[in-house]
Amino acid sequence: MKKKRIATASLAGCFGCHMSLLDIDERIIDLMKVAEFDRSPLNDFKKFTRRCDIGLIEGGCCNEDNVHVLREFRKNCDVLVAVGQCAIMGGLPVMRNAIMHSDDPLRECLDEAYRASPKVMNPDNQIPNDPALPLLLDKVYTVVDVVKVDYQIPGCPPSGDVLWTALTALIKGEPPELDWALIKYD
Ligand code: SF4
Repeated sequence: MKKKRIATASLAGCFGCHMSLLDIDERIIDLMKVAEFDRSPLNDFKKFTRRCDIGLIEGGCCNEDNVHVLREFRKNCDVLVAVGQCAIMGGLPVMRNAIMHSDDPLRECLDEAYRASPKVMNPDNQIPNDPALPLLLDKVYTVVDVVKVDYQIPGCPPSGDVLWTALTALIKGEPPELDWALIKYD
C-alpha cells in the first residue's frame, strides 16, 4: 500500500496535542510503516512538498499567520482534522474574547500584555509593530470559523489512544469511529 502523507500544524495551540500524538509511543513505528509526515513541526518541514492525504490542525486562529497557514492546509490536504479543543472551539485562548468589555477589546488585550502588566518593562510605551510580526485578529477564531473541516477530535489534549484510533481509520480511508469511552473534552 502506498504510504499516506500526513501534515500537521500548531496554530494558536500549546503543542500539547502534538505531544499527545507522540504518546502513541512505540506505535509510531507501525505508523511510519503506513504513513509519512510532510509539513509538520515534528520534522521541521516548513512548506508542503506535495499534496497530503491527511492534515491535522492543533489550535485556533489568533493572528493573520494562523489564518494563512490554515488556508494552506485546507488547500493541500484531502482530509482536514481539527485536533483538540483549541481547534474545535478556541480552547482556553478564546477566553480573551469573553473578558473583553471595552469599546476597543484588542487594544485592551495589547495594553495588558505590553503596557499595563506589572512585570512589563517598556519605557517607550510601544506595542510591537514591526511589519514582520503577524497582526493579532480582533478575537480568537475556531478552525471551523475559517475553513471547512472534515472531522473533529476533542480533548485538551485528545489522548494518544484516540489519536491512534482516528489516524489508523483515516489511513485506511475510513471515517474515525471513536468509542465514547475514548472521547473527552478536558
Ligand atoms: S487543545 Fe489543549 S493540548 Fe491541544 S493545543 Fe489546545 S491547550 Fe494545548
